[in-house]
Amino acid sequence: MDNNVFQELIQEFHENKLAHAFLLETNDKDKSYQLILEFLKRINCPEKYEDGCSKCNLCHLISSKALPSLITVYPDGINIKKEQILSLKKAFQTKPVFSKYNMYIIMDAEKLNASSANTMLKFIEEPEEHIIGFFVADNKENVIDTIKSRCQIFANFYVKNGEEEFSNEQFEKAIQYILEVETAHDAALLYNKDVLSLEIKDKNTCVLFFKTMLFIYQNIYYSMLGTEELKELFSSLQFLTKKKESNIFKRIQIILKILDDLNYNLNISLVLDRFVLEVGDIE
Ligand SMILES: [Zn+2]
Repeated sequence: MDNNVFQELIQEFHENKLAHAFLLETNDKDKSYQLILEFLKRINCPEKYEDGCSKCNLCHLISSKALPSLITVYPDGINIKKEQILSLKKAFQTKPVFSKYNMYIIMDAEKLNASSANTMLKFIEEPEEHIIGFFVADNKENVIDTIKSRCQIFANFYVKNGEEEFSNEQFEKAIQYILEVETAHDAALLYNKDVLSLEIKDKNTCVLFFKTMLFIYQNIYYSMLGTEELKELFSSLQFLTKKKESNIFKRIQIILKILDDLNYNLNISLVLDRFVLEVGDIE
């Protein structure tokens, strides 16, 4: 549970400032779901919670999804239906017996339509102390506004093969490149050819380079959502925080796609040019 975003929530929980509804944007819903369960254990555990608490019955029930006060809603067909939300409401009319909270997790929140979202609103608008909920989506822009506007929003992106620690030198190289791509757009293709292609000669270096950029764009995005501070090291990229959130999100998606594609053998100079061109298509 070394995840920054959730650490922030745990902090808010201890300070009694925890919100009641959260929208989590992620490229890996299953992993995010597990993280949410860990978080819910932490705020409910009657023992002193340690990672992977298996001592107490409550944590065990949360893990095995056998706790009546924890309900996960998946789309039924192409939508999340009004009836599903109605039965959630019904289940949560009484206070929880074993846990501190009644908890719901709405998976694929973009599948809430106007009528199911409407039914959902009462939970969010008149929050009761003992109810907490998560909406999980690929892209928050696809979640209906009435829900989105009432949630505390945060994001969590995953790269295959885990996350690395990056050196300052790697960061500096990536920052320099981002500045080229974001400000000197036409020259960036030349920069690829004249500078970068000499430094990035093999696939592993290329993957590491894109992971470093991903880390930087994520920090920028999280700082726009208000869940992280922009790192001082990245202050020369502050101007990017003035762009639309959804456009920074698109840059993250481009990098995630490139990292995925790099699992296959690709021509590195083509990958670099593709990055410049695709970012160039976004404001
Ligand atoms: Zn426990």
